[in-house]
Amino acid sequence: MQEIIRQLLVALGEDPSREGLLDTPKRVEKALTFLTSGYAADVDATLNNALFSVDYNEMVIVRDIDFYSLCEHHLLPFFGKCHIAYIPQGRVLGLSKIPRLVDIFARRLQIQERLTNQIAETIREKIDPLGVAVVMEATHLCMSMRGVEKQNSFAVTSAMHGAFRTSSRTRMEFLELIKLRSAVPGLGEAGGHACLADE
Ligand SMILES: [Zn+2]
Repeated sequence: MQEIIRQLLVALGEDPSREGLLDTPKRVEKALTFLTSGYAADVDATLNNALFSVDYNEMVIVRDIDFYSLCEHHLLPFFGKCHIAYIPQGRVLGLSKIPRLVDIFARRLQIQERLTNQIAETIREKIDPLGVAVVMEATHLCMSMRGVEKQNSFAVTSAMHGAFRTSSRTRMEFLELIKLRSAVPGLGEAGGHACLADE
């Protein structure tokens, strides 16, 4: 990877042998390897020892989980907050594993919509809850840094399954509890756009 990054610096018009850039290929390799470490992470191994049987069927909410990801269209960051809720039916996920699950899917080349769905799908598969909801709010640097739709570089995506889809009361209870800064698409005013890869 380091040789490719050296070539990239040349292609950008830089001199990779100048002092400030000498260790840049090594640093970029290290950074990119970390930022895409989700590919090598094992979801099953991470979660399987954190699935518990419980007699509890009220909504579980974990809000304001910070996440950082890379837009697959421009390889630029998008980052923000993830809010997750589910209603268990006999099984729960260890609370500390939920941010870890977000990281596993965020540390890949992503689009915000797919990232949101993958988190929801994994929770569904692992604990088969009565419902699961994932809302992600993110700023996309590929939009804001490049001056594309400057006002709308903040995007909200959601995945609602089970009771969160069928019961508007359950859905509104969740949305009220996370006090969304903007509306969820499809439930009210649109909240801007994630990267659309049109340029
Ligand atoms: Zn992008």
